[in-house]
Amino acid sequence: MNVYDGMRIAAMLEHHGFEQTENVSDADIILLNTCSVRAKATDKVYSALGRIRRAKKPNAIYGIVGCVARESGADAFRKIRDLNFVLGPQSYHKLPEILNDPNTKLLDINLGGLEKFDELPPITKSPHVAYIPIQEGCNHCCTYCIVPYTRGPEISRPYNDILAEIMHSATVGAIEICLLGQNVNGYKYTDEHGKTYRLSDIIRDVAKIDSVKRIRFTSSYPTEMTDDLIDLFRTEPKLLPFLNMPIQSGSEHILQRMNRPYDLTGYMDIINKFRTARPDIQISSDFIVGFPGEQDDDFEQTINIAKNVRFINSYSFKYSPRPHTAAALMPDQIPENIKSERLIKLDSVLNEIQREFNLSCIDKTFQCLYEGVDKTGTHHIYRTPYMQPCIVSTEQPKTLANIKITSANKSCLHGKIID
Ligand code: SAH
Repeated sequence: MNVYDGMRIAAMLEHHGFEQTENVSDADIILLNTCSVRAKATDKVYSALGRIRRAKKPNAIYGIVGCVARESGADAFRKIRDLNFVLGPQSYHKLPEILNDPNTKLLDINLGGLEKFDELPPITKSPHVAYIPIQEGCNHCCTYCIVPYTRGPEISRPYNDILAEIMHSATVGAIEICLLGQNVNGYKYTDEHGKTYRLSDIIRDVAKIDSVKRIRFTSSYPTEMTDDLIDLFRTEPKLLPFLNMPIQSGSEHILQRMNRPYDLTGYMDIINKFRTARPDIQISSDFIVGFPGEQDDDFEQTINIAKNVRFINSYSFKYSPRPHTAAALMPDQIPENIKSERLIKLDSVLNEIQREFNLSCIDKTFQCLYEGVDKTGTHHIYRTPYMQPCIVSTEQPKTLANIKITSANKSCLHGKIID
């Protein structure tokens, strides 16, 4: 979501005659796009603003956008007096207002819903992967999560607007479409004729666009996986065989306290439906360790479910108490050192599963999408249908290539282009 917001902000400023620079001291306008899901990201914002303040040209304007802006509001101006703007994740389209009068302070942290999508100028070029938000906000109240506060209640974008944006992205270069939402499979939009559209309808229409070759979506809520969506994995080859479906914990007692309305049997039933529809599917998850009240035994159950499902490409986090959330007020918080120990243990299990999965790919051939050159500038990186990075030596990288995997380790694959 933040990648998408960042790209739209850059396109908007380009529309106003700006160009991007890597160098803070060259910039006339500087903004930090911020995340507040965990405290660590939030904590970094003010030290980063301090660094920007010291490095920037004296008359350059600067500020924050995104979820930390929404959370801090006017407080941000009290903390850093010469900050010029503080704009929430649904108000960043108002940024150009500050260009007319750089001496004002621009503050807008309202939850304006979908207004920004109508105000932003269209992008003029797209990377191979286009992220397209189809809904914003979330109505689930997971007790750890700040998102309903920062991004507001769930709201689905009009179907035709989404299709138009995807069509445009495809015209300007997108090959893969990643449909985005805080609760992406909860997408539901009823048009003026009373017709209701779901995520499966979007996927079916996107698949009809010739130049789009790969489709995926994130992030899914387990209990909103409907049969029409699961069935598409059987019939729609452009849908990648890879799905992120956060379980968060393997302990039913902790899931209840998180206000996640499924048990392990229910979660496994959904996975099995996906596996029946698409036998080569792989599942990724998000995990939180050290949630209030988590005992050793609860944590062991998380390790067990990770091993049983064999999740790949997963994300694991130490529980981070957030303002405006119920879990932050729970009395039985877990000490930091125990959270750290558990995270190390879980990561070592997830890494080993990932390594084994990567090794199982050797000698297989996948159609992969070109991403760019690696940090050293000498190798080309592709993404497999499972989102593994695959390193290839070639003079002329093709956008989509069939790549035979020749070797693998925990973090990446190596391969050669066969056509
Ligand atoms: N609905 C989005 C939420 C984004 S947060 C989604 O499902 O992706 C992404 C992940 O961050 C969540 O799945 C959860 O595992 C983790 N997370 C959210 N709040 C957290 C908190 N307070 N502490 C630690 N991890 C958290």
